[in-house]
Amino acid sequence: MKVYIDGQYYDERNAKVSVFDHGLLYGDGIFEGIRAYNGRVFKLKEHIDRLFCSARAILLSVPISHAEIMRAVVATCRRNKVRDGYIRLVVTRGRGTLGLNPNRCQEPSVIIIADKIQLYPAELYQNGLEIVTVPTTRNLHSALNPAIKSLNYLNNVLAKIEANNAGCEEAIMLNAEGFVAECTGDNIFIVKDGRLQTPPLSAGALYGITRQTVMQLAQDEGVPVSEPNLTRYDLFNADECFLTGTGAEIIPVVKIDGRPIGSGKPGPVTAKLVQQYHSLTQVSGEPIDD
Ligand code: PMP
Repeated sequence: MKVYIDGQYYDERNAKVSVFDHGLLYGDGIFEGIRAYNGRVFKLKEHIDRLFCSARAILLSVPISHAEIMRAVVATCRRNKVRDGYIRLVVTRGRGTLGLNPNRCQEPSVIIIADKIQLYPAELYQNGLEIVTVPTTRNLHSALNPAIKSLNYLNNVLAKIEANNAGCEEAIMLNAEGFVAECTGDNIFIVKDGRLQTPPLSAGALYGITRQTVMQLAQDEGVPVSEPNLTRYDLFNADECFLTGTGAEIIPVVKIDGRPIGSGKPGPVTAKLVQQYHSLTQVSGEPIDD
């Protein structure tokens, strides 16, 4: 595998960053997780748009343009013959000193890794996932805004550990007010009386690209979509529940905190959206081949 770092390709073994990079020392940087399907990079523009929003929020000046990053992502896929896979795009603050001050860092570094994706086991897509609410809450907007897709994922990592300790693969994270925010790496949706609901972004969710795509697909199907504040009670009394993310795609949830959701099996609205989503991924995106 060849890894892109600052305009050059390096063999996997030699793809390295400095131990003085503030991405490593302080989690000072941003990233995107992107998918390629059927020889196309899915929603590439949306991912790069979000990357630039994260950059702006942390006053990081991305050293190459939006168009250049798009081209570099596609080129890295082509170079690695990745037609269906997962792309990790990272921009670190760059090499600096042992103090926090980002002004002491030289140039930000752009890293692109195009690899295979490891999904949840296929069986979970079929039968649904069991998840739990964990004690670690989502970051406050006033502390580290959850909309920033930063390299500082410790909040999510802690929640993931708590889910794993409870024997689950994913965790529901509440915000400081006790409303449902999202999961550690996925947005959450419920279906109630034929209506699709997901927490508002103000509840502390990432502006998920899969979330946006699924909301659009539901609207196209005539399913009403809204973004109310949701509590655990709303989840427990939902007819269906599912999670969305670039990596996870759409995965049904059948049990939350020991309560079966709806019939306890993945529901029909979820199944329809899964089907629509898969069809879309096969035909849209930035072509990888020349
Ligand atoms: N929430 C968090 C915390 C995430 O890290 C992600 C991305 N893995 C998502 C939601 C889903 O976002 P997207 O659909 O853009 O991948």
